[in-house]
Amino acid sequence: MSRKEPIIAIDGPVGAGKSVAARELARALGFSYLNTGAMYRAVAIAARAAGVNPDDAKVEARLASVLEAIKIKFDGEKIFLNGRDVSEEKNAPEIGDLASRFSALGAVRARMRELQRAAGAAGGVVMEGRDIGTAIFPDAEFKFFLVADVNTRARRRFEELKKKGESISEHEVLDQMVERDRRDSARELAPLKRADDAIEIDSTKLSIDAVVAAMKAKINARIKAAKDLKRA
Ligand code: C5P
Repeated sequence: MSRKEPIIAIDGPVGAGKSVAARELARALGFSYLNTGAMYRAVAIAARAAGVNPDDAKVEARLASVLEAIKIKFDGEKIFLNGRDVSEEKNAPEIGDLASRFSALGAVRARMRELQRAAGAAGGVVMEGRDIGTAIFPDAEFKFFLVADVNTRARRRFEELKKKGESISEHEVLDQMVERDRRDSARELAPLKRADDAIEIDSTKLSIDAVVAAMKAKINARIKAAKDLKRA
């Protein structure tokens, strides 16, 4: 391992609790936290501003300059796209949908892979998304795959959007979620799937604290086993 500190990958579908759990775990471990979904959302905002349509036959060529120029910066809870705060704008359901469309493109994934690998190279990071344990850091020291029942996920996402002032019904959230999961899982490049060596956690009946506690227990057990092995 060339890094001093481990990489913790957390993947899973919409609403499984990845973001809150990843943020909390990072805080508990003193690690940094990277929300890669927010990066794809930033790409969607940049592409839309540049008038690029995801269904355009020449979409990748049209996106080239957008991707080349893109600068994404995180500052605590905030995300800046080319210097502009897009923390609120990125949460809109249509941005989630656009992000999912653009994220199927090879040019977009290649650019995000480059930025995400650079951000995690030194380790000491909890990175969450769809393909962290499979494509971005297949050698991550710890991999979790977070799942939950679809109705529970829709309800959580709905509550989250309601709090953020989005006007959308729970039924619409469920429909959009099913479609986004389908697209993310069916795409050719880095689809949403559990890495063979990822630990699956079903958060349907768990609080966020319980999810984080389960993750910490797995991490500590593995570290202890490695220490015992060294000593033996
Ligand atoms: O996690 P979030 O819902 O914000 O992600 C928005 C979209 O970005 C996802 O539906 C998915 O299409 C894409 N994404 C991805 N790979 C990641 C993270 C997000 O393709 N690592």
